[in-house]
Amino acid sequence: MRILIAEDETVLCEQIRRVLASEGRVVDVANDGEEAAFLGATEPYDMIILDIGLPKRDGISILKEWRNQNVDTPVLILTARDGWSERVDGLDAGADDYMTKPFHMPELSARVRAMLRRKSGRANPLFQKGKIEFDLRNGRVMENGFPIDLTSQEIAVLTYLVHNTGRLVSRTELSEHIYEYDGDRDSNTIAVFVTRLRKKLGTDFIRTVRGRGYVIEET
Ligand code: CA
Repeated sequence: MRILIAEDETVLCEQIRRVLASEGRVVDVANDGEEAAFLGATEPYDMIILDIGLPKRDGISILKEWRNQNVDTPVLILTARDGWSERVDGLDAGADDYMTKPFHMPELSARVRAMLRRKSGRANPLFQKGKIEFDLRNGRVMENGFPIDLTSQEIAVLTYLVHNTGRLVSRTELSEHIYEYDGDRDSNTIAVFVTRLRKKLGTDFIRTVRGRGYVIEET
């Protein structure tokens, strides 16, 4: 799942980036409002973390613009401790959730997980299909209670497909959600990841629709 962080405090921004990346998210960073507005409107993020107090453009106006452009990406806003009116404005402008600074990283990552699940209509963090159980909280896969080792790219592909269960996902779409903005996107590599996943999880776990993409059927 690919996330945009728009935050001008570079230390905090790097902390958030590191935590989310360690959980298998692909993260792009914008350090000012203009860059944030541009990336959020043009790249297919799974969610956006938006600081309200950004240089060049404030977060509320960016959020209003996205919503006017029908960008419906879930947005979590970051506000100052005493910024209750910002939170009201932010929620009314189309934010889905907020965090007040300073905050604890585990709370932020839990909110990120909850938002990603909500976006895909998946309230349960455990995904089960046949003998395979996939825990969206930590990316662990078990078969009959025994762990299966997956690489971070395999987890990224699996996570995106599970969040889109029942829907056919093309290679291009997959590559847009598992690589960063300036990442070296190669849809042939996606085919390699899926082949490995099918070997590890069983060939009927992910269905390949020749020339069109992949789907994990609803159980
Ligand atoms: Ca700020």
